[in-house]
Amino acid sequence: MDHTKLISDLIRVVGQGAVLYRPEELLVYEADGHTIDKAAPRAIVLPSSTEQVSQVLRYLHQTGIPFVPRGAGTGLSGGSLALENGVVVCTARMRRILEVDIPNLRAVVEPGVANIRLSQEVGHGYAYAPDPSSQAACSIGGNVAENSGGPHCLKHGFTTNHVLGVELVLPEGEVVMLGGKAEEYPGLDLRGFVIGSEGTLGVVTKVMVRLVRVPEAVKTLLAVFDTVDSATRTVSDIIAAGVIPSALEMMDHVVIQAVERSPVAAGYPLDAAAVLLIELDGPPEGFDWEMAQVREICQRHQAREVRVAKDDKERALLWRGRKHAIGAVGALATAFYTQDGVIPRKRLPELLALVADVAKRYQLTIGNVFHAGDGNLHPLIVYDANDGDAPRRVQQAGGEIMAACVAAGGSLSGEHGIGLEKREYMPLLFSGADLAAMAQARAAFNPDGRCNPGKVFPTSTGCGEVGAITKPGVLPAVA
Ligand SMILES: Cc1cc2nc3c(=O)[nH]c(=O)nc-3n(C[C@H](O)[C@H](O)[C@H](O)COP(=O)(O)OP(=O)(O)OC[C@H]3O[C@@H](n4cnc5c(N)ncnc54)[C@H](O)[C@@H]3O)c2cc1C
Repeated sequence: MDHTKLISDLIRVVGQGAVLYRPEELLVYEADGHTIDKAAPRAIVLPSSTEQVSQVLRYLHQTGIPFVPRGAGTGLSGGSLALENGVVVCTARMRRILEVDIPNLRAVVEPGVANIRLSQEVGHGYAYAPDPSSQAACSIGGNVAENSGGPHCLKHGFTTNHVLGVELVLPEGEVVMLGGKAEEYPGLDLRGFVIGSEGTLGVVTKVMVRLVRVPEAVKTLLAVFDTVDSATRTVSDIIAAGVIPSALEMMDHVVIQAVERSPVAAGYPLDAAAVLLIELDGPPEGFDWEMAQVREICQRHQAREVRVAKDDKERALLWRGRKHAIGAVGALATAFYTQDGVIPRKRLPELLALVADVAKRYQLTIGNVFHAGDGNLHPLIVYDANDGDAPRRVQQAGGEIMAACVAAGGSLSGEHGIGLEKREYMPLLFSGADLAAMAQARAAFNPDGRCNPGKVFPTSTGCGEVGAITKPGVLPAVA
């Protein structure tokens, strides 16, 4: 289709200034937080309402043009890349909080609302619980698409536990409501199908969420270890003792160094092999027993120090380092690749040993900062983007780690999604028949595959057959 006509037609729907198409504007949208893969979109549309999203999708349907929904672009699996020269439908201008209903503990928001803004605006001792570390930037629509987690999801639940309904614009422009503000709806759980569907079913244009009471009291501890092994053993023993911390996060030496040499230095000991950030919350009466248990388990595993934040200021400081750790690692080299495997937590010691071995064999620096209580690893593979061979080695190293997570009884993704990054590894977890069944379910919403093509499913999927990759290796590069 003629490019000039496409742009002027889109401008007619959303207005001047809400369509980006110049080469320098497209550059910003050619990747997300997973920077190994890039794909330039045809144009970016910034609708302001459900009605505009519907009109845009109707137009793209009539003209047969593929598209991809996009929120803030903080995704770490290439999910919002416009493959097949598609159009990006970005929700950044749909950022109204439409309703806050404290008596019913509900809120209704547009998808472009940044995660942290919702809790800030609700206030009065109530909050939206899921708290991705990217919460200052990432959008609620992106959280729904990825079923995002966060440090406090260990105790308080993931996005799927807090989203009760979504308004969705289907790829042909029809607007549907799945679920709602009530606790439960009969029939198939199509709301649940959309959560975690990675933008492959349509554009989410409204989200109905549950609000929760902010915990009465909170205690934050920093436990310092001289070996990674003792830190990871502490994690599973804490849970086994019957204590469910609200957060149980780990950072290793590489990450501690990066944080402490950055503007978000948090006072973590520079010579530690690993630290655990452990948070307990709830009614203050329960704390003594839980604190005693946690301290005793840390000491049993030779924690060199267990520091309890003495006030809110110190607590915020400890969290500042953790919440900005991935960004701080960005200063170590020109690029890094964030992984997301998840494993049964008692297998953390052997998986962390494997990650160290992979780093040695591929001569790469790998830092670890992750949701240890969930068994959700985030090895950060640091590399020089100007070294032509580095992305290939990094992806091979990442492939070994992913395969090891699956072999340990885990999964390819704890929260970042499959996107483009991990699609070729899906056959490690699913048979051809499994994948074909999922593709059929997707086709009920997205019959011609124009909504976010090329994501989640391996490229060799076709007519119900899925090519098997038994040994992960190098992923195909996307230009
Ligand atoms: C420093 C850093 C820390 C992070 N920490 C965490 C963490 O703790 N936990 C976690 O889970 N993730 C984390 N992430 C990953 C990322 O922030 C989340 O996946 C987030 O939910 C993405 O939101 P977004 O608005 O940036 O979405 P995008 O990156 O814009 O999109 C992500 C996916 O969602 C789809 N999508 C976006 N909006 C919509 C919509 N309205 N309708 C339908 N589909 C849509 C896109 O098509 C794409 O497939 C982190 C990322 C960074 C960079």
